[in-house]
Amino acid sequence: VVVLDGLVKRFGDTEVLTGIDLEVRRGEVVCVIGPSGSGKSTLLRCVNLLEQPSGGRVLVRGTDVTDPDCDIDAVRRHVGMVFQGFNLFPHLTVIENCTVAQRKVAKVGKAEAERRAQANLDRVGLGDRGGAYPAELSGGQQQRVAIARALSMEPDLMLFDEPTSALDPELVGDVLEVMRDLADEGMTMLVVTHEMAFARQVADRVVFMDGGVVVEEGPPSQVIGAPREARTRDFLDRVL
Ligand code: ATP
Ligand code: MG
Repeated sequence: VVVLDGLVKRFGDTEVLTGIDLEVRRGEVVCVIGPSGSGKSTLLRCVNLLEQPSGGRVLVRGTDVTDPDCDIDAVRRHVGMVFQGFNLFPHLTVIENCTVAQRKVAKVGKAEAERRAQANLDRVGLGDRGGAYPAELSGGQQQRVAIARALSMEPDLMLFDEPTSALDPELVGDVLEVMRDLADEGMTMLVVTHEMAFARQVADRVVFMDGGVVVEEGPPSQVIGAPREARTRDFLDRVL
């Protein structure tokens, strides 16, 4: 579903990603771990062109998004994104947050958009909160709404950038559980996370990044359980 082929990203003179090769296959959950500043968010943002790559190729569902002729909006319609902050529209109710992009971007009719929104709110355990405003919800609930909103677009791929790192510790579990359910249902997911237990349990593959390169990648039992590279071991010693 995603192929990164020699992806390079520079900000001015600084090369933040220096030739990343990475593939995420259909139904796979790939977790990206690594120290702050290693380029994890930048990598994720290059997938749906929130950042313009400086070199290399990014294929999403077979479309080269770095091709100037590519219809990026058409690609983005199939890619759900959930960030650290919840990014809900504060003046819209929960159900409206989950229908607005469907209506405006995907041109889904009102009744169908509401049906999808309700189904996805049920899925994240918030089926009874559709009428609430974001400010009336906890951070964990808001993040689950953000996931339901992304799912309402019926994406083929979900990108997560540290979705639990802004949450109070007691709220993290509910969000991770929703993500685990999604993975079990076969969603293709690329997840930047600091949650090593989650990566260990849910990831098919873990990618350790440092200094803009992939240092090590493999099954979690290897990368987290028995890392081969000294840099991976140093990082894990600090976070575990
Ligand atoms: P964290 O774990 O803290 O979220 P990260 O691995 O996600 O870190 P990135 O946010 O991808 O790291 O940043 C990688 C590097 O790129 C950092 O050195 C950062 O300062 C730099 N960077 C990111 N965005 C920009 C930007 N818009 N302009 C200039 N430099 C940037
Ligand atoms: Mg980041």
